[in-house]
Amino acid sequence: MDRETCPRCGSKYVNYLGYCLNCGYEDRLVCPRCGSTNLTKDGVVRLSDGTVKQRYRCKDCGRKFRVEETG
Ligand SMILES: [Zn+2]
Ligand SMILES: [Zn+2]
Repeated sequence: MDRETCPRCGSKYVNYLGYCLNCGYEDRLVCPRCGSTNLTKDGVVRLSDGTVKQRYRCKDCGRKFRVEETG
């Protein structure tokens, strides 16, 4: 799925986490509350329409949030 391009090299080989498979650029996830990048995966949620969302938990403030996956 055509999701986005790498801000560094313009490659479209960017996975759902924002990691560029071409140049290695990583668009780090940040906590929506405190801005920390100290995150841990907290399982996935599959919705009734088949959408899979990765859940993350912030180790600094404890906030849980979901990131939408593609495919
Ligand atoms: Zn790149
Ligand atoms: Zn946080």
